[in-house]
Amino acid sequence: MMSKWDYLKEELFELSRIGRRRSLRWIEDLKGVKALIEEREVLLFCSNDYLGISRSERFKEVVLEVLEKWGAGAPSSRSIAGSFLIHRELEEELSRFKGSERALLFSTGYMANMGILTTLVGEGDLILSDQFNHASIIDGARLSRAEVWVYKHKDMDHLEDLLKRSNHRRKLIVSDGVFSMEGDIAPLRELKELSDKYGAILVIDDAHGTGVLGKEGRGIAEHFGLLGQIDVQMGTLGKALGIMGAFVAGEAVLVEYLLNRARTFMYTTSLPPVVVGMAKEALRILKEEPWRREKLWENTRLFREGAKRLGFRVLGETPIVPIVIGDDELTMRFSAALFEMGIYVQGIRPPTVPPGTSRLRFSISALHSKSDIERALFALKEAGESLGLI
Ligand code: PMP
Repeated sequence: MMSKWDYLKEELFELSRIGRRRSLRWIEDLKGVKALIEEREVLLFCSNDYLGISRSERFKEVVLEVLEKWGAGAPSSRSIAGSFLIHRELEEELSRFKGSERALLFSTGYMANMGILTTLVGEGDLILSDQFNHASIIDGARLSRAEVWVYKHKDMDHLEDLLKRSNHRRKLIVSDGVFSMEGDIAPLRELKELSDKYGAILVIDDAHGTGVLGKEGRGIAEHFGLLGQIDVQMGTLGKALGIMGAFVAGEAVLVEYLLNRARTFMYTTSLPPVVVGMAKEALRILKEEPWRREKLWENTRLFREGAKRLGFRVLGETPIVPIVIGDDELTMRFSAALFEMGIYVQGIRPPTVPPGTSRLRFSISALHSKSDIERALFALKEAGESLGLI
């Protein structure tokens, strides 16, 4: 009997055949970075909760207080009945945090990037996008109807070449701040210089920089001494801040325009007040508990140096630590061997990364102890040797 879904079954079968089928791993229990998965106790090395803020005890009281005052959800879009004062308070705090005039919340980073790109440029315009930008940027660029020229990863000569060649009505440069699969940092100074020189709008996706980079964790702009000088800063609340949601920070006119035109802002339910309240608390934790960032970077140095010493190909310079293996299947076998040894790190395969560059992507956390890091390095050595990788 033919079924309507035969073509899906065939494609899934093909994904299995080429070793790219994905399946979900269920976390059964979680205490800090210690997770119970398939009845095995493992150390988590692939969460974006870099500062361990999501585990803070401080949220308990906040949630009850917000629940009492505002309820669990704000079931309406922001422009109808879903803008509570607590949303405005968070937006004001975020704009101060990012050194900008104003900020606007979005439900996710994915939607923020879609909103920015589809709103600020359109037909007849040009988007210049780094080769390794996040999927949400790629999708936003596609949906914008602007022409998209991709420049080689962090290659400023290539970018300038393309800028010179363009005679489009408007130009927009967009880059991840910290590249999510490479773990390296965008050359912000050069990006800003080029964007100013050629009159292009500069959009920086600071999803992985917010809370992590800069002395006070204000992100990539603080790291480079350019706080408040980037045209459009996107940040997320779901990574180092440990909650969910995202925001765009910039000049008041930019925010006012997005509020009027960004469909991913206008046509969706607003963030639940409890989420907003927790995000406000997360900002306070970030400020009052600097030990988290210090410990994160100390762990990052320890792990990066150890993995390099073992002879692996380690990319980047941030708490995202990709170890390139190359082959898809070998990468997944490596990940499975580490899992058996109590270290949970996901293998990353195409289409998330280019073919032939499959990798393990470790994310370091402030909650890892020194002995957790040493355990991961020991497992890397044992499993790496047994698979003939080192
Ligand atoms: N940008 C980058 C660079 C990301 O890594 C992610 C999340 N993986 C996003 C945007 C999307 O953010 P969110 O998860 O809030 O949708």
